[in-house]
Amino acid sequence: MSDVQRRHEHFMQMALDQARAAWQMGEVPIGCVIVRDGEVLGVGHNKVERYGVTRHAEIVAIEAAIAHTGEKVLPGTTLYVTVEPCTMCIGAILLARIDVVVYGAAEPKTGACGSVYDMHDHPKQQHRVVVRSGVLAQECASLMQAFFAEARTGEVGHNVAATPPFTERRNTTTGTLHVVPTPIGNIEDITARALKVLRAADVLLCEDTRHTGQLLQRYGGIHARLVSNHEHNEAERAQTVLRFLADGNNVAMVSDAGMPAISDPGYRTIVACIQAGVNVEVLPGPSAFVTALVGSGLSAERVLFVGFPPQKKGRGHWLHDVLDGGRATVVMYESPYRVEALLADVAAIVGPQRRVCIARELSKVHEEYLRGTVADVAQAIAARGGLKGECVVIIDAAHVE
Ligand code: SAM
Repeated sequence: MSDVQRRHEHFMQMALDQARAAWQMGEVPIGCVIVRDGEVLGVGHNKVERYGVTRHAEIVAIEAAIAHTGEKVLPGTTLYVTVEPCTMCIGAILLARIDVVVYGAAEPKTGACGSVYDMHDHPKQQHRVVVRSGVLAQECASLMQAFFAEARTGEVGHNVAATPPFTERRNTTTGTLHVVPTPIGNIEDITARALKVLRAADVLLCEDTRHTGQLLQRYGGIHARLVSNHEHNEAERAQTVLRFLADGNNVAMVSDAGMPAISDPGYRTIVACIQAGVNVEVLPGPSAFVTALVGSGLSAERVLFVGFPPQKKGRGHWLHDVLDGGRATVVMYESPYRVEALLADVAAIVGPQRRVCIARELSKVHEEYLRGTVADVAQAIAARGGLKGECVVIIDAAHVE
C-alpha cells in the first residue's frame, strides 16, 4: 500500500469513528474529518438539530475547522467523508475553498457523482475541488447498510457492534484510549503525533487539570474537555471513561509529566479498558527513568525499575529485595531530600564501592548526572549541602570478576 493510500485510510478511519458516533446518537452514520498537512483541523458527524433537521457531517466539520483555525476559508485542506457529499455540502466545500475531497462509499441518490467540482460562475468565487472516491468504501457502505437494516426491522438502537469489522481495527464496539506521554522538563519534548492526538481528543483525562491546562495553552488547538483522573479517583473514574468511549468520544490520557502509569495514574484506566475490550494505543515518548538509565552509563541490558521506595514501613526489606543478588541495574525515583539517606541504605546492603548515578533535573536548565561509587556520590552530595530538583537513582548490577 502506498503512503498516500495509507494516509487516506488513516483519516477515513477517523471519519468512520465519527460516523459510528452519529449512529450511537440515532443518526445516519456519516462522518467527516478535515486535514491540513497531516493535522486534523475539524471533525464532524451527522447531527439532529432543532425541529428535527439534520446538520450534515461536512458542514459540522467545516464549522469546527473554521473555529479551530480562525480562518474564513480553508485552502490547502482535504476533507474526508465516509459517503459521497450531497450537492448542498459540495456548495459548502467550494465556498470553504477546500482543495480535495476524499470519500468512501458512493451515494447515487444524493451524491453529485463528479470527479471534479467547479465553482466558476462568479468572478470572486472561482475554485476547483479535486475528488477521490472509494477509500475504505466497503466499510463506509456496510455501516450505512447496517444502520438502514436496523431501521427497517424497527430495532433502532445503538447497535454499532453489529457492523462488519473495519480493516486495521482491533475493536469495533468502542473507541480507542490514547495514552499520551508529556514532557518531563523541557516543554518542547512533545511529539508531533502526541499533539495531533491531543488536538483530535474530545475528552482528555489529566492528573491535574490546571497543570495540563498550561501545556495545552502553550500548544493551542486542543479543545478537549479536561477530566481529572488522579490517584484518588481513578478507580471510580474507569466507568465514566468507558461511557465516554462508548458514546463515541475520542479519549486521550496524560499525567502531569512523562508516561502515564509510570509512577503516575493510568494503570487502572488501562486495565479497565483492556478488560472492556477497548483498544489501548500508547504513544512513545518521554519518561524519566529511561532517559536517566541511558544517561547513567550503566548497563541497560538487564534492568529493574521499581518506582519510589517506601518511605518508612518495610523500607529495609524492600531495598534488600530489589538489590539482593545484584542481577540487574536497578532504577528508582526518589525525592531529592531522601537521596542521601537512600545512598546510606544502599551502601549498607551492596557496599560503598558499587557504582551509582543520580540523574537530576533531566531536560531542564540544571540537568546533571552524578556518577561514581556510592561513597563518592554520597560525599559529593554532602559537600554541596544536599540536593534539589527531581532525581532518578540508578544502581549498578553486581559484577563478578
Ligand atoms: N510518569 C513519570 C515518568 O514517566 O517518568 C514519572 C512521574 S513520578 C510522579 C515523578 C518522579 O519522576 C520524580 O520524583 C523523579 O524521581 C522522576 N522525574 C520526573 N521528571 C524528572 C526529571 N526531569 N529529572 C529527573 N527525574 C525526574
